[in-house]
Amino acid sequence: MKFELNFRNNFGTDQELLEDIKRISEKLKQDKLTSREYDENGGQFSSGTVSRRFGGWNKALEKAGVGITVLSNISKDNLLQNLEEVWITLGRQPTSREMRQPLSNYSQRGYITTFGSWRKALVEFVEYINSASEPVEEHNSNETVDSDSQEPTYKHKTKRIPSERLKVQVLMRDGNKCRLCGVIVTGDNIHFDHITPWSKGGETVLENLQVLCAPHNLAKGDC
Ligand SMILES: [Zn+2]
Repeated sequence: MKFELNFRNNFGTDQELLEDIKRISEKLKQDKLTSREYDENGGQFSSGTVSRRFGGWNKALEKAGVGITVLSNISKDNLLQNLEEVWITLGRQPTSREMRQPLSNYSQRGYITTFGSWRKALVEFVEYINSASEPVEEHNSNETVDSDSQEPTYKHKTKRIPSERLKVQVLMRDGNKCRLCGVIVTGDNIHFDHITPWSKGGETVLENLQVLCAPHNLAKGDC
């Protein structure tokens, strides 16, 4: 007969096991929990016991009503694009703790697992944001030009609406503040204004864009 040291309790009821998963998940203030995190943060049972009891770690999480960390299918591009969206929503660099539902589709753990650390994820993100310049194409201005007016028609090299990447560049430069009054702006209140108006031939490039609040954007009118 072989004896093994066993410091963990293998004899909890199903309910106790699930309660304990919930407890650790709440303690870590995470909506997701890996088996390793459970073991390392004071799980009363071993994650192996839990997995065996419920036919897999994820099945146990499901039963406990705790989110499942699915990391293997997330590509770097998905993570970077998600970070781009979160950045634009906040108007600024998110903290790792802010990377959670509903703001973010992926938790900080996804970034740490894929990039090595949150900091490294940010470094790659900055490279990603700076990597591609705006596609320069010939665009005929689609602005309706009154045939009676003397307004010249401008042939734009850029598209009127800035890309997500360009928006982040503007936010990185201006911060999430209106350039005219300094008020903090987030979400739909962030306006990316053409300094030289689009209708006056202004291009959608970093140098010609600025962050404005809604009232100032409205006041400026022709953006
Ligand atoms: Zn303002």
